[in-house]
Amino acid sequence: MAAQNAEGVILRKYYLRETSYILVIFTREFGKIRGVIKGVRNPYPQFAGNFEIFTQCQLLFYRKKNRQMDLITQCEALDFFLPVRKDIERLTYASYFIELIDMVTSDYDVNEKLYRTLTESLRLLGSGASAKRVGRIFELKFLEALGLSPRLDECAECGSPIKEESCFSVKSGGVLCRVCGRRSRSCLRMSLGTVNFMRKIQLSELPKTSRIKVSRDVGKETEDILKRFLQYHINRPVKSLKFLRQLQDEGIV
Ligand SMILES: [Zn+2]
Repeated sequence: MAAQNAEGVILRKYYLRETSYILVIFTREFGKIRGVIKGVRNPYPQFAGNFEIFTQCQLLFYRKKNRQMDLITQCEALDFFLPVRKDIERLTYASYFIELIDMVTSDYDVNEKLYRTLTESLRLLGSGASAKRVGRIFELKFLEALGLSPRLDECAECGSPIKEESCFSVKSGGVLCRVCGRRSRSCLRMSLGTVNFMRKIQLSELPKTSRIKVSRDVGKETEDILKRFLQYHINRPVKSLKFLRQLQDEGIV
């Protein structure tokens, strides 16, 4: 079978034996693949160099049939995202991004938009932009790539314009006007500033979103809303988010 070329980001890595690893990689061209890479001469398996998680690499691999693991023959690093690895908060956000991607993707299910969201978010995270803000940007673009964008341009129930402080309904998938909000049992408080901030991110290309300014209150409200919205759709605990909360509680980040 012919060798396949792809660009991807490493989601998981397992040490197989002295010179082999199993890699789970989210590729632009094939979606998620898992394969064995052999003949890696590395006497220190805990430092896998090219094969560290969230490294972006250029791959050459052979696709196997009958649910066998693919054979990866080449994995050349394109970007290690070094600035991200030097900062515990950025590193945790990067782990959060790949954990979410890993949760929602199936093998060989291509989603180029999701791949771009991941690589552009990692790049933004390494650029010095606020890690928290990049977290929110990733979450919104991640939802968009999955076709789950929250509706923010008008009331998600009746379609009327949003002109004043309102609330967000996880179940309805967007912001509600005052009238619909009063009828909803579990509507989360949402200021007009938060609607506008999230809307601006939705309308901007990801690399340009870091210019969008946000106040502390709006940032916090956005974080709470997106956390609940993602929980509703993913419905599984996210380990890296728990770790991030611990870092915040202990005042480390
Ligand atoms: Zn309404």
